[in-house]
Amino acid sequence: MKTFYIETFGCQMNAHDSEKVVGSLLSQGYSRVDQWETADLILYNTCSIRDKAEQKVFHRLDQFKRNAQGKVFGVLGCVAQQEGAKIFERAPHVSLVAGSASYAKLPQMLVQLESGNRRVTGLDFDASDAFETPYTKRDNPHRAYITIIEGCDKACAYCVVPFTRGPERSRTSESILNEAGELARMGYSEIQLLGQNVNSYRDPSAAGLDFARLLRAVGEVDGIRRVRFTTSHPRDFVQDIVDAIDENPYLCNHVHLPVQSGSDRILSRMQRLYTRAEYMRRIEWMKKARRPIAISTDIIVGFPGETEEDFQQTLSLLDAVEYDSIFGFKYSKRPNTAALALEDHIPEEEKSRRLSIVFERQRAVQIRRHSELVGAVEETLVEGYNQATGQWIGRTSQNRTLNFVHPRFPRPQAAETLAGSYLEVRVTRSGPNSLAGEAIAGIQ
Ligand code: SF4
Repeated sequence: MKTFYIETFGCQMNAHDSEKVVGSLLSQGYSRVDQWETADLILYNTCSIRDKAEQKVFHRLDQFKRNAQGKVFGVLGCVAQQEGAKIFERAPHVSLVAGSASYAKLPQMLVQLESGNRRVTGLDFDASDAFETPYTKRDNPHRAYITIIEGCDKACAYCVVPFTRGPERSRTSESILNEAGELARMGYSEIQLLGQNVNSYRDPSAAGLDFARLLRAVGEVDGIRRVRFTTSHPRDFVQDIVDAIDENPYLCNHVHLPVQSGSDRILSRMQRLYTRAEYMRRIEWMKKARRPIAISTDIIVGFPGETEEDFQQTLSLLDAVEYDSIFGFKYSKRPNTAALALEDHIPEEEKSRRLSIVFERQRAVQIRRHSELVGAVEETLVEGYNQATGQWIGRTSQNRTLNFVHPRFPRPQAAETLAGSYLEVRVTRSGPNSLAGEAIAGIQ
């Protein structure tokens, strides 16, 4: 039997791509192993969103080289798409280079590799079947990803995604709803809709659903109890999405809305297509909703030309919104992007200083917001048990981690009983990054 090993870096889109690749390999008679040293085929699904992530790829490929005899190596994902056949020059032990739009052709590429071809590429963007691999081996037994839109038609000045994942292609609502129904029948209760810009979704079929209508339809699939989505672009985020969340408790009350900067001048240099005031209008829609909607965001500090005044505006935005969580990054130069041509690149130490101020400011907000939840009862999906802390690990609809004790299931051997169930948990303590509590009701 042929064996394979796969390593994945990057976003949820990449994680889900790897699930499709694994399903495809299993269907071709391969079996998965946990150590790359014991595999015949080693695949590395890569991320190129930041310079550091890309450097890691070549470092890891060098490590693989020391035991390359008789093995076949493949590079998948964004670095594969970005660097293409150049990877063969830099890492001659690599035999396969394939971007995400080509994974449906993996069986044919495997045949070429098995017949001894040592330079196989899959770098086309025109694969209309990009989403529809017949086999997907999902890693999580309760939460399933569904890709609804691939690629991106925006041109944010710092972002490499339009070059690595190509133009936007939406999937038909019928195939999305069929997949959601199938997943519910298999026992999944949480669906996460994925795309670089989910709210740019345009159903290519006659049904013609926009994103808000698709969201409602997925929320009505029998057996699905939670629907999440990521990521949204502020320009395409409409009030109707908030209305849909308000109407249907099965739609999780959490929205990730990347802002990147609080300064209009920097937003314009970033080519983000919205102003701070327009972004804040969307925040107001969510703050006025009947259900409390948790809001998270992405922040980039040190974009070329970002002055202290611009940076202060980002800090004032953090105070104005009071996000539930943030992902903060230092600007990183990426190939092909418009920001490379901008002047006034910020020194690394200054970027680091700004990023630590952002995290410090946000930490204070999270401590305050989490403390307000002490005493509240949250519906919690049990994800597992932490032996070290003796607590169950759960996630709330607002996407908060809620670790808790259960008086009737204090021991780990109960894991199979509780994992995947929904419990009412009372919050008893709070920290900056998570909550702690005690289950108050039985398994549902
Ligand atoms: S919207 Fe901007 S940041 Fe998001 S994937 Fe597209 S280009 Fe990149």
